[in-house]
Amino acid sequence: MIKTSPPSSPAAHTTGRSFNELPLSPAMLATLEQLEYRTMTPIQAASLPITLAGHDLIAQAKTGSGKTAAFALPLLTKLNPRHFGVQAMVLCPTRELADQVTQEMRRLARFVDNIKILALVGGSTMRPQADSLEHGAHIVVGTPGRIMDHIERGNLKLDALNTLVLDEADRMLDMGFYDDISFVVKQCPTRRQTLLFSATYPEGIAKLAQKFMINPQEVKLLEQHEGSKIRQRFYEIKHEDRLQAVSILLKHYRPVSTLAFCNTKQQCRDLVDILHAKGIHALTLNGDMEQRERDQVLIQFANRSCSVLVATDVAARGLDIAQLEAVINVDVTPDPEIHIHRIGRTGRADEEGWALSLCTAADMPRVANIARMMGIAPEWHTMDTLLNEKKGPLVPPMVTLQILGGRKEKIRPGDVLGALTGEAGFTREQVGKITVTDMSTYVAVARDIAREAVKRLSAGKVKGKTVKVRALED
Ligand code: ADP
Ligand code: MG
Repeated sequence: MIKTSPPSSPAAHTTGRSFNELPLSPAMLATLEQLEYRTMTPIQAASLPITLAGHDLIAQAKTGSGKTAAFALPLLTKLNPRHFGVQAMVLCPTRELADQVTQEMRRLARFVDNIKILALVGGSTMRPQADSLEHGAHIVVGTPGRIMDHIERGNLKLDALNTLVLDEADRMLDMGFYDDISFVVKQCPTRRQTLLFSATYPEGIAKLAQKFMINPQEVKLLEQHEGSKIRQRFYEIKHEDRLQAVSILLKHYRPVSTLAFCNTKQQCRDLVDILHAKGIHALTLNGDMEQRERDQVLIQFANRSCSVLVATDVAARGLDIAQLEAVINVDVTPDPEIHIHRIGRTGRADEEGWALSLCTAADMPRVANIARMMGIAPEWHTMDTLLNEKKGPLVPPMVTLQILGGRKEKIRPGDVLGALTGEAGFTREQVGKITVTDMSTYVAVARDIAREAVKRLSAGKVKGKTVKVRALED
């Protein structure tokens, strides 16, 4: 029975957590083994403990994440094969998706004899479907419109239903199925388990959930291609070591750009002071800053002349930085959604990203919550191994030069690039991002030419005029 061949590479990526830890029958476990489902995918690991315990569930997960097993296992576990009535129903947006779900559920159900799973989709005539229903089916899978037709004609009786699944709910809403879904759900017994899966979370989903679900638990996963590129580690620390620990992590991982999240403004200020004392280029953003100051901070961070931006969630709102090697959670946030949002800022555009979180013993329940919602087993590391490293100072590769004069003086990026690479004699590679604001122009240059660049720009001309230039360095 146990196969020795290597598993065919699964479409979905898995967590390394075994199905054995779940309350599943030996026969079900054997089927999963046969199907070469070795370990759970993140959505399965996050949702199955909840759904097998009988709770309603809202799960946010993409196509290919292994949703079918996530809802099929709980409904198959509850199924009574000797009762020939519809006990579970799955609503899908399209005929193709309903067919896929039907196929996959039939594979998962093969450990029990004679489970009948019926696809009720448009595109084929009603009659044969009605006949099949007449003969008795345990599970129906279909599109909302066709299911509604069968209910209205009295072909489909739902009084024995105990599980309702809305698969790819956001797509069903996009396709205008809200009213059909409402109609169908109202025909279901109120005592039932309802499972809703959706890739995105538009307003309509909340409305559906509020109307038709009872105290649903939520799980939410990072987009799969992102999730796999973010390497998440948790470090246990003592509260008094928290801020020092940030500089140790920075010196060990050596990310060019790091966003460090604190839960309070005061903590942001304290952290920046400590990082400065360690010779690390750090800046903070807060709500009390003037727009011009805020712009300067963001410019320096985005052009890689500042290693660390320290911020609260509020201050970081709307921030979009393309290249971010690391996110450090100086404090673990109590809200798992916020945690997921924070760490989702790294590991973009095919780059790998680090998500490092500092936790005291008191933070453990928060980490447990995050792990449950993300369907992960947290990877714990200790600071001790990093303490005695000698890796030298962490310095950003670039320095920002501020040129007084901007849009008002009709300066364009090309003028500054021209001045640096022409008369001043630098190469294109030594010049980084150029940002023109109303009153000033900011140009990032390689750290080793910064002094010389200030001199030569001041001595020369930009757009035919002499300009004042200074380096933004403390
Ligand atoms: P979704 O509905 O989220 O798009 P599916 O349930 O169709 O995803 O699963 C995608 C593919 O991954 C299928 O081929 C399925 O057989 C496979 N699969 C699902 N769960 C696992 C697992 N735990 N281990 C290996 N393969 C899996
Ligand atoms: Mg699916």
